[in-house]
Amino acid sequence: MISGFGGCVHYGDGVKLSLLPSGRRLIDHFGEDRAGELCERAFQFLTVPLAEQPLLRGTCLGAPVTTAFAGHGLAIREYPVAVLGETQVRAMLTALHGFRDDALTVWEKSELIATALTGDRLTVTVATPGGPVTVDTAQLVLATGRHGVTSTQNLLTAFGVQTVAPDMSLGVRLETRAEVLAAIGVEHPDLKITQLEQVDRKTKTFCFCGGPNGGRIKFTNYQRSFGREVITLDGHETTERRPGARPLAANFGLLCQLARPGTSAEVRAEILSDYWRLSAGRPVAQSLRAFMARTAEPRSWPELAAAVTFEPSVQDLSTGRLDSLFTGAEHASLVESFRRVMGSILDHAGTGASTDDLVDDVLVIGPEVEFLWDRVPVDEDCKVPGLPIFVIGDAAGIAQGIVQAAMMGVAAGDAIATGMPA
Ligand SMILES: Cc1cc2nc3c(=O)[nH]c(=O)nc-3n(C[C@H](O)[C@H](O)[C@H](O)COP(=O)(O)OP(=O)(O)OC[C@H]3O[C@@H](n4cnc5c(N)ncnc54)[C@H](O)[C@@H]3O)c2cc1C
Repeated sequence: MISGFGGCVHYGDGVKLSLLPSGRRLIDHFGEDRAGELCERAFQFLTVPLAEQPLLRGTCLGAPVTTAFAGHGLAIREYPVAVLGETQVRAMLTALHGFRDDALTVWEKSELIATALTGDRLTVTVATPGGPVTVDTAQLVLATGRHGVTSTQNLLTAFGVQTVAPDMSLGVRLETRAEVLAAIGVEHPDLKITQLEQVDRKTKTFCFCGGPNGGRIKFTNYQRSFGREVITLDGHETTERRPGARPLAANFGLLCQLARPGTSAEVRAEILSDYWRLSAGRPVAQSLRAFMARTAEPRSWPELAAAVTFEPSVQDLSTGRLDSLFTGAEHASLVESFRRVMGSILDHAGTGASTDDLVDDVLVIGPEVEFLWDRVPVDEDCKVPGLPIFVIGDAAGIAQGIVQAAMMGVAAGDAIATGMPA
């Protein structure tokens, strides 16, 4: 499944295809050579429908950019990234949708609802618009992404699979004028900066949506996977939007790895109940000034949106104390990390502006989350040992990303094809 809840690659979106070593946990998982081969095949599979192979950027960065970041004690992670604009994404989706016709039977608007093991085979029940369908299968591949956050775990737990607690991250998305992030977005379209030394809690930039056309913030609707409605954020880069009366916006995520007391289930429950209390599980916005100072945002969302110099990319927001979702140490780490990253970006852009000049022209929107779900112990074929079940992509909890999900799909496909009668 290429396009759906929790994922991107929708008609109208742009995407970034980030290659290894982005998603480096897959190098540990598959080994360097196999991971490299899978990455190449996944990238090829995704981009073969395009009229031209996309340009890869993000490596061999020049001295001006590395010097600007080194000046703030930061080093950029280099890896190849292809930015696919809206037209290219449409071409890719159309081709992949056509591909399935000869090879697959697809039940649309359908959901796997039950699985039972009989001997070494599985009986799988799928709720389809025409009613439940039950099939018998020798292999099941779960590529349920974030939508399966609780249902996939429940399914595996029922088979006695012990999942592994995640390294959960919680953060915010920062939106400002596209012009501010344009130069760095051209240099490295998926800028990832991890900060360990200078801050109390590990932080990293996440899903950078800069470049001359900026990017849009998108909601990730977990629906009732956690028992009550929860919507978090993500972003995607664009190349073809046209500005209206105000300049376009660009954004990037800044995440903080949590080190709170309690089990992962308890920490997740704490985050979600704080979020429900704050805004009934719907994203909120705060000016950078109020977020940094940990004060209430005095303006309503329409007033705040009107006060910035750019057109915010989402409108369905309210203002609130987003900062209150973070502990003191998490908040301090996010603010310090932002100062260093934005300071480097501004130095590289060479406009002479400082981070303090931006406090009233950056919206802090959130929350954004990563790995609220457990990791599934899969082998090098992405198979759950002892079961005819493969778990791939986001659902496996190893690495996120389009290429990374496709790599795992290729690995599972190889293993299944190898085991089939000739
Ligand atoms: C807004 C946004 C922007 C992003 N931008 C990028 C980017 O630019 N580059 C990048 O590399 N990554 C990006 N990501 C992350 C990327 O989309 C995911 O890592 C990737 O899509 C994971 O693929 P997947 O197949 O594992 O899961 P998904 O793409 O989430 O697909 C899972 C599918 O399974 C379906 N499903 C779930 N449970 C069931 C069930 N029980 N029965 C049947 N179907 C089920 C879901 O509805 C969904 O369609 C972005 C994510 C978001 C939300």
